[in-house]
Formats: sequence, C-alpha cells, structure tokens
Amino acid sequence: MRRGTGLRFETSQDLLVALNTRWSVAEDAQGIALFDPAGRRLSRPEFAEWRDLIRVVSDSRISVADLARVLNVTGEREIEDLCACLSFLEDRGVVHLVHPTPPHAEGEKDSARFRWQLTYFERYEAENLDRFSMLSRIRNARFCVIGIGGLGALVAQILCASGARHLTIVDGDTVSLDNLPRQFLFKESEIGQSKVGCLARTLKQFDSEVSVTCREDYVRDESQAIALTRECNFIILCADQPRLLIHKWIGEASIHHRIPYIAMAGSWVGPIGVPFVSPCYVCQARYNRLRMADYPGYLRAVAAAPLPARPGYGPGVAFNAAMIANAVIEYVAGIETELSPYRRFRCDLWGHFSSEELVRYRDCPRCGSGNGDAAAPSPRAE
Ligand SMILES: [Zn+2]
Repeated sequence: MRRGTGLRFETSQDLLVALNTRWSVAEDAQGIALFDPAGRRLSRPEFAEWRDLIRVVSDSRISVADLARVLNVTGEREIEDLCACLSFLEDRGVVHLVHPTPPHAEGEKDSARFRWQLTYFERYEAENLDRFSMLSRIRNARFCVIGIGGLGALVAQILCASGARHLTIVDGDTVSLDNLPRQFLFKESEIGQSKVGCLARTLKQFDSEVSVTCREDYVRDESQAIALTRECNFIILCADQPRLLIHKWIGEASIHHRIPYIAMAGSWVGPIGVPFVSPCYVCQARYNRLRMADYPGYLRAVAAAPLPARPGYGPGVAFNAAMIANAVIEYVAGIETELSPYRRFRCDLWGHFSSEELVRYRDCPRCGSGNGDAAAPSPRAE
C-alpha cells in the first residue's frame, strides 16, 4: 500500500477509506479527538477539514472520490491536502485504504446468507484481506470442539452460524434433565440421547451444508487427544475433566499437530495457544505458580472441588461461549484480534473486565530451550 505522502488522487480515488476500529473517536471541546489502541491522543493532521473527514469515515467506508465530494474539496491544492492527510492517517494506522472487492461469483450464495456478517467484516478489511477472504477462511477451517456441554455446544452453534462448515465434536455424555438450564441447545425430548448426536442433528438442520464428525467418547489420555484432533486445524477445549490433565493433553495435541487451540482456565479465556509463539501449557502453569502463594494447596483444592467445577446458569454459559467463539472466528478469519497469542481475558456478566499478558519462558522444557527444540525465540519471552 502507498506510504508517506505519496497518495495521488488520480490513481487512488476508487480506494475505500476505512477507519481502523481499534482507534477511538471522541468528541471534546474542540470537536473531535482520536486515540490509538493504547489511549494516546493523535497529533492533529495539517488539514483544515480533518475532523469532518474522521466523522464521515467513522460512519461508513467511503471512496476517496466520494470523500472529496462530501467534504466539498475541489481545488487542486485542497485535493493535495486531502491526500496528504489520508497518507498521514494511514501511516499512523488510523485508517486503512483498501481496494473495493466485487463478490466472488462462487460466493453469491454466501453473499445472500452472510450479507450482514460480510458488511460487519468490511470494517476489518486490510491489504490482502477482504471480507470474502475472511468468510472463506472460516468456511475452510476444520474446527474440533472438545466437550459438548453448555459451552461447547453453543460455541459449535455460533461457529456454524458464522460460516464454519467442518466441525468435529467430541463428548461421551448423554443429555440429562439437570443439563437443560445450562445446556439449552438440548431439549427435553433428547434426554438420554448422546450429546454429540443431538448437536449434529441441530447443526445439520441449521445449515444443510455443514459437515459434522461425531466422536462419542471422552478424551482419556494424550495419545487419544492427538488422534482425535488429527484432521483439524483449530482445537477448542470446552471440557474440564479430568481437571488440569485435559489442558496438558490438548496442549500437547496442539504442539504435536502445530495447530492453535483455545481453552478456558477458571474464568480466563485464552490466550489463543499458537505452538512455539504463545506461552504453552507448561509456561502457563509456571506463570500461575509464580503468582500464587500456595500453588500445591491450589492444586489440592482444584482436585477436591465438587462437581460441577463452576456452578452457573444459562446467561454465564452463553456469555463465555460468545467470547470464545468470537476469539476463534477473529483469529481464523485473520482479523487483528483483542485476544492475542499472549493475552488472556475475563469478563463477568456485570461488565467487569480484566486482561493480562502471559509469559513464554525462554527456558521452558516444552516450548523453549529446555528440550533442545528449535523454537523460534519469542519477542515477549522472559
Ligand atoms: Zn512453554
């Protein structure tokens, strides 16, 4: 993409100007102010109408030519100033300048079904990433959801609704009456039936093109975790049994296949575990251990806690499922995501939010130098 002040109106007027949604626009005494993702205020561009420009592009994407018309910029000198201002904003990441993309012929059916999702994706378009590519990445990905309780069933349903066409679902359990308040994709009429079978039926009714592979089993050890996830390229861990061990097994499966995974640990979502980029499950355990006064006591308490590990009801499950599904979709679609390979977050039903960056230890025996593996050094490693 063009950089510096080289943006020329003659060759750029069809480009679409899109505001980077990671920036915040705020009204202040002077009219409008822009803040970067770290909360720093942008120095003002040297363009008299820049505030009007931001107002226009924060409403919707607009071509450079239309932007000039809306701002009533007509003179040669003024056009040059507008282009210099757009270059200034693009250099600082405030706006993206993207080529308009016609719908792919093969994607016309998708265009009808996903009309509003594609419109939503528009705001994340960037160089080499248009909204149709984002959707096709989701459609081509092979997701494996481990644990089809309230969380896993809903994550699978949201992924399917958002375009996922290939899902493997793993759970050995059957539907019971006391599941229904939390696992509300299942029905009274399905009590006693296999959860994966019931969910597969629901998903097929929802999208006739979805392919669902059912594994009616529990994950019982590491080698089975590796075998179950062999055909997939993203693992979503929504089971919490056997406690702690399941995280190790899925972490190992992720490393074995070199595919990313996501899990909930306690109330934390993430990070997206990218092998040899993110802190692995060993790094995460070490990070937790160093922050706890009595880690062995914590492990004993976790092992002795009654089932279910986290009592709750429908809204909390729906909320967590939405956070996980969104993180997975953004990652797979290629959208710059809040949930990076280093960061985990949690948010409760009352809007209390926290997030923190984890550490990938350089000498980690699993993902660092400890096992002699040729792991790429992480810029965030400690
Ligand atoms: Zn590690």
